[in-house]
Amino acid sequence: MKSLVFYGPGNVKIEDKEIPKIDENEVLVKVKAAGICGTDRHIYRGEAPARTQVILGHENAGEIIETGRQVRSLKKGDKVCIDPNIFCGQCYYCHRGEVHLCKELQAIGVTRNGGFAEYLVAPATNVYKVKENVSYKEMALVEPLACCLHGIDLAGIRPGDFVVILGAGAIGLILLQLALHSGASEVIVSEPNSKKRKLALKLGASKVFDPFNDNLEKEIKIIKREGADVVIEAVGNIHTFKQSIQLARKGGSVLLFGVPPKDKVIEINPFEIYKRELKLKGAYINPFVTDRAVRILESGMVNLKKLVTSQYTLEELPNVLDGNLDESNVKSLVIY
Ligand SMILES: [Zn+2]
Ligand SMILES: [Zn+2]
Repeated sequence: MKSLVFYGPGNVKIEDKEIPKIDENEVLVKVKAAGICGTDRHIYRGEAPARTQVILGHENAGEIIETGRQVRSLKKGDKVCIDPNIFCGQCYYCHRGEVHLCKELQAIGVTRNGGFAEYLVAPATNVYKVKENVSYKEMALVEPLACCLHGIDLAGIRPGDFVVILGAGAIGLILLQLALHSGASEVIVSEPNSKKRKLALKLGASKVFDPFNDNLEKEIKIIKREGADVVIEAVGNIHTFKQSIQLARKGGSVLLFGVPPKDKVIEINPFEIYKRELKLKGAYINPFVTDRAVRILESGMVNLKKLVTSQYTLEELPNVLDGNLDESNVKSLVIY
């Protein structure tokens, strides 16, 4: 089978590999669509860790070809998507039900072989069956959707809340739709790219702003003098992290969702956090939310189709990872 193998920063190769064997608790999946994620680019550039000689690709959808002897819930021919994160079940965090913080966390497409290949092996516990009416393209977005769902759960949006989202990439645009479904009466999106701003409006944003040309703080104050009930940072940029704290109202929540650079710091005035009683929250991956993400996908309540702006073959992937991203690109997939 054709696979994209990671040999270290800047070094990936398309190779022909044996179709992997499964053990009794695993399934073999023929990959139909796989999302190309910011994390894959970070790995390629050496900014995020991955095992060498691993097949990358952690946002996977496909069809079951074979099931292990002990697998009861899945069968050959099932349409499935895969939660890439595998926890140990034995450490302090797993025992506390915080499996995403597991000390021995493994991930398909990062520490074990992923979906940038024609076939992949996954533990049956990580595989979710999806109804026939959903396309593989949309199914490849279940993993980012699940991460966003975890973030929204933590953000604590209440019906009637005024929400500001910084960034309208795939993540920002999913968070926008989930915020509306959580009851936000108004969601404002800040995004420098005009195509993405237009898409945000189509997907339900009540207003959009360009952070480079509009004075966002002033504009937010015009809409609501007190500031936003909930601010979600979905860029991963230190300037937007700083800004997200400024935009929240007294007693408001700030969800830091974007992945910031590892070595950058921002200045925070602790007195502000105290006096304004701000709640700053991080959100990391997707514990126990994939099933709900699948239900959301099946119901059609979140539009994922509109987010897919480019599709590639596996052979094109080394160039895609090496090239610069088009600013108006929202989500790229590998289609098999
Ligand atoms: Zn991802
Ligand atoms: Zn653990």
